[in-house]
Parts: sequence; C-alpha cells; structure tokens
Amino acid sequence: MEIQQLKVPGYEEVYRATDRRSGLLAFIAVHDTTLGPALGGCRMWHFSREDDAITDVLRLARGMTFKSAVAKTGLGGGKAVIVGDPKTQKSTELFRSMGRFIHTVGGRYITAEDVGTGTGDMITMRGETPYVSGLPRDKGGSGDPSPFTALGTFQGIVACAEEAFGKKDLNGLTVAVQGLGNVGYDLARRLKEAGAKLIVTDVNESRVQQAVKELGARASTPQSIYGETCDILSPCALGAVINDRTIPMLKCRIVAGAANNQLAEDRHGEALLERGILYAPDFVINAGGIINVSVEFQPGGYDEAASTKRVNRIYEAIRDIIATSKAQQIPTSQAAVVLAEKILSDARKAKGLPEPKRFEPAAWPAAVSHGTER
Ligand code: NAD
Repeated sequence: MEIQQLKVPGYEEVYRATDRRSGLLAFIAVHDTTLGPALGGCRMWHFSREDDAITDVLRLARGMTFKSAVAKTGLGGGKAVIVGDPKTQKSTELFRSMGRFIHTVGGRYITAEDVGTGTGDMITMRGETPYVSGLPRDKGGSGDPSPFTALGTFQGIVACAEEAFGKKDLNGLTVAVQGLGNVGYDLARRLKEAGAKLIVTDVNESRVQQAVKELGARASTPQSIYGETCDILSPCALGAVINDRTIPMLKCRIVAGAANNQLAEDRHGEALLERGILYAPDFVINAGGIINVSVEFQPGGYDEAASTKRVNRIYEAIRDIIATSKAQQIPTSQAAVVLAEKILSDARKAKGLPEPKRFEPAAWPAAVSHGTER
C-alpha cells in the first residue's frame, strides 16, 4: 500500500492511500482532535474525479467536528472515503486493505458505517484494526443508532415546541413527518405516544399504510407534504429539502427532523427566520446516533442507560442554540456553528493549543455524494 500525506490548511492530517493488490483508492481526513479522536463514517461512493472525493472527505470531516462538539461526545471530527461503486466493487480484500490504512493513523481516526458501507464491511475492517465503532451489540459495539437518533430528534422537537408554543407538551400539535424509515417511523411512534397528530409521507407506500393503521396518521404525498398545514414539519428522508421552491410552500411554525443537510444552502436558514419558522439545526437534533456510538469510548464501555441519558440532553443543546440565535440575532443554523466554534475554542485555550486557520463554510462546494449520512 502507498500512503501519501496531503497538506490541507485547517486540517490536522489528510492521507491518500492506494493499494494495487486490492484496488483500494481511499482518503482519510482528520479535521480536528481537540476534543478527542476523530470519529466519522467511512463512505464508499463512485466519485468520477479524485478531486470530488477529496472535497467530500474534507467537507464531511469538518461537519463531524461541529456535530461532535455540540453533542459533547468527547470526540473530534474525521471522515474516510473509498472511491468505488459500493454495488459492484466491494470485496473482503478491499475492506481489509482499508482497515490497514485506518490502522496507520494510530487511533486518531475512528471509523463507522456510512453511505455505501455496512455492518459486514465494519466487521472485516475490525479484523485489521481496533479503530472501528458502531459494531453490532453481539460483536461488542453499540448497535443500530437509529432509535437513539429518533429519541434525540424527539427531544429537539420538544425544545422547539416550548419556544414556539410556550409548552413542552406535544399533545394536540400536528407534526408532518417526511420519511418513515428507521428514524422517521420510530420518531412518529414517539410523537403519537406524546399525543401529537400525525401527517406522514414516504415513497414506500407500505410504510405510509403501516403508519395510518398503527399510529392513526393521515397520509400525505411526497409532493404535498411541504404545503400541509401543521405545527411542525419533520424532514426524515432526504437532504436539501428546505430550498427556494419549498420555503414559500411551508405552513408550519417549526422545521425539526433527523435528515442530514436539510438546508439546500446556508442562506435558507436566514429565509426560514424571515418567514418566522423556527429551524432545529440538523447536525444538532440528529446527533443521537453519534452520541450512542461515543458511549463505546467511555471507561467501562457501552452502556445503553448512559447513552439514553446523554441523548436526552439534545433538548438542552437545542435550547442553547435558540438562546444564541436570539441573543445574536442570527439564524439557528448559524448559531449552531457559532456554538460549536466556541466549544472548540474554549477547549483549545484550556489545553494551550493554537487556533487553526479557519475555512469559511461559504467556500465549500455543494455535496458530491448523496444519501444517508450518519
Ligand atoms: P432510511 O433509509 O431508513 O429512511 C429514509 C426513508 O425516507 C425511507 O423509508 C425512504 O423510502 C423515504 N424516502 C426517500 N425519499 C423520499 C421522499 N422523496 N419523500 C418521502 N420519503 C422518502 O434512513 P434513516 O436511517 O431513517 O435516516 C433518515 C434521515 O436521517 C437521513 O437523512 C439520514 O441521513 C438521517 N440520519 C440518520 C441517522 C441514523 O441513525 N439512522 C443518524 C443521523 C442522521
């Protein structure tokens, strides 16, 4: 295997690896380890250009630093990408090779599942390096993160309802849930238990029918969900759903859901504020999964009760962001970044570390790969 270190300002370490025998071409970016080792998923994607893979690994690693900082996981931010088609180019040798690559970073980067990789791939890599997280519970890991992501999203919704309607009680509020997958369905169930009325949609009609039958939800469609009259819109399917086309359609007071990268562009956070719609920043409200994984690194190892306790604190994190947004008169999406930067800066000062050269988010090109991010 050939490993080359790339110098990227603002990043602690970035590596490119090639292995002719297994066909591996991969990148690891360690963005920031001020708060702990850099945790972030390993994505496999058919990038058409190597530059696109580098852009993605850098953008996603930086996002993980902010996500972990606000979630107070005691971890830093990093990411890995493997260049290749996950449907046709996976092999045991490829993931063994990736495991060896990860091992060379000496634990400063810890991997997990992401778009294009699955449990089997994690188990293969674990054979080469201990720096793999999120394994199934029967393999000593923290297991499926989705129920924890749903719990955290629920807590974030409660914090938003308290702000917008002056009460933590969701009884009688109407929530429109877009996407009834692993997270969305569990969230819908929790909302129903809290007395909320549900409007739901999914491209998978059987999930919608299940929610109608089990949760008494009213079915909407993927096209009309944005215009439904409701108190809360909860995007739990795709990214970039809050955009120039959908914002004028919204008839809700709150947007709060689990989907990653909900704002098509940063300026859409401002647009929501102008319309008087309270937005729960995605990387804060959907941090339950990463919080659950982070508990693997606590002394004594993974503990579900400890994880639940920490995930419940997403309520406070969202409240802090709302308070910062009001105090500084900035959108909540911006307040979340301000808060993350402050947590990092305070930690650097406490450790006597210098401030790194910063990248402005506006300088980032749009996402290259798509799909479910953890
Ligand atoms: P999932 O694939 O299980 O569920 C997504 C659901 O959305 C599916 O049921 C799918 O049919 C539906 N869907 C797709 N396109 C749609 C459309 N146009 N309209 C309506 N529904 C549509 O994924 P998940 O694990 O439930 O994750 C949901 C979102 O939350 C994703 O954006 C993911 O990145 C994010 N997220 C998930 C986790 C986690 O722990 N699973 C953690 C953080 C963030």
